[in-house]
Amino acid sequence: MKKINVLKPKFRTKEILSEIEECLDKGWTGMGYKTELFEDAWKEYTKLPNAHFISSNTVGLHLALNIFKKKYNWEDGDEVITTPLTFISTNHAIKYENLTPVFADVDEHLCIDINDFKKKITPKTKALIYVGIGGNCGDLKSIKTLCGKHNIKLILDAAHMAGTFIKESHHGVAYTSNHVGQDADVTVFSFQAVKNLPTADGGMICFKDSKDDKKVRKLSWLGIDKDTFLRSNEGNYKWKYNVDELGFKYHGNSIMASMGLVQLKYLEEDNNRRRQIADLYDKHLNGLESIKIIKTNKYVSKSSRHLYQIRVLNKDRDLVINKLYKQNIFPGVHYIDNTEYDLYKEYKGTCPNANQYSKELITLPIHLDLSDEDITYISNKLKSIINE
Ligand SMILES: *Cc1c(COP(=O)(O)O)cnc(C)c1O
Repeated sequence: MKKINVLKPKFRTKEILSEIEECLDKGWTGMGYKTELFEDAWKEYTKLPNAHFISSNTVGLHLALNIFKKKYNWEDGDEVITTPLTFISTNHAIKYENLTPVFADVDEHLCIDINDFKKKITPKTKALIYVGIGGNCGDLKSIKTLCGKHNIKLILDAAHMAGTFIKESHHGVAYTSNHVGQDADVTVFSFQAVKNLPTADGGMICFKDSKDDKKVRKLSWLGIDKDTFLRSNEGNYKWKYNVDELGFKYHGNSIMASMGLVQLKYLEEDNNRRRQIADLYDKHLNGLESIKIIKTNKYVSKSSRHLYQIRVLNKDRDLVINKLYKQNIFPGVHYIDNTEYDLYKEYKGTCPNANQYSKELITLPIHLDLSDEDITYISNKLKSIINE
């Protein structure tokens, strides 16, 4: 029997290889060339005003905080509100900049709960990192409004949100559908190996302000500033540049961009199939007493459906997963409450809902190698295990 994994990337191998071949033939595998083409294609697809291709989402979150900390004169120890239900990158990024994470609890969509967010705001609050978990957007609209009111920078960790579109205005049934990120001060995507736009590793950082975009291009390349030098000097010598800031080696390369360019062409098609799979699971699992499906928020017009998550109620979640393993079904858990980790143990107990959910969550297999029959098989096995 075939092994059914929770996530599995699909690559258009031949197309990707020919894109990479162009890089090799040209002798250009680094920054520039395909990275610029990928940035343009990403802007064209999302309609976001700026996009810079970097080596991962993690470094993007770090760069966002690094740039805002200097720009707005934040101090060490200033606070960034964040979620405990995320991949640990989100919260490490806050620590990289000597800022203090303040955990806000999550709502039924597993995104930050606006009421708890309100409660966690102090005079030291400078930013909010908001994670659209699984491709969902939670209460992003109201969150954005609240951020504006308190002058809190909104950093969107969109690692799961490549291809999530939200309704911009909704009077009656009419609305426009825009790619997520238009409202945030910065949006950071991930193209890591098992994300819904997979490369091997990569990310895109999209600032609202073009000045920040200019800055991130410099800081992701060690602080090397060629532009200023070129403007004020004659000749174009590669070694003649200025360095006036401590930057990082965080930029992306043309090999990863080649993969991204091809994968982007199929993103809509792939996400459509993900949404079909989610609908099928919904049909099989709706209305069951011990399964709570994590539903897409009403503001989402199209979810990327990076994940399909359920909570199993009043059951031993790990035991359920173990029994699924025996049927060759290998689900996942997104995520363990981050305050359970030793590094974050001082924040333990600050988010009771997230803590409870993190003991109940199961991510069911969702990827492009699954047939409708597979979804029926997985659903039936799950139902019989739950009813045992
Ligand atoms: C994967 C992931 C990240 C990190 O992305 P990388 O590109 O691997 O650095 C950050 N946040 C969330 C929510 C993720 O799922």
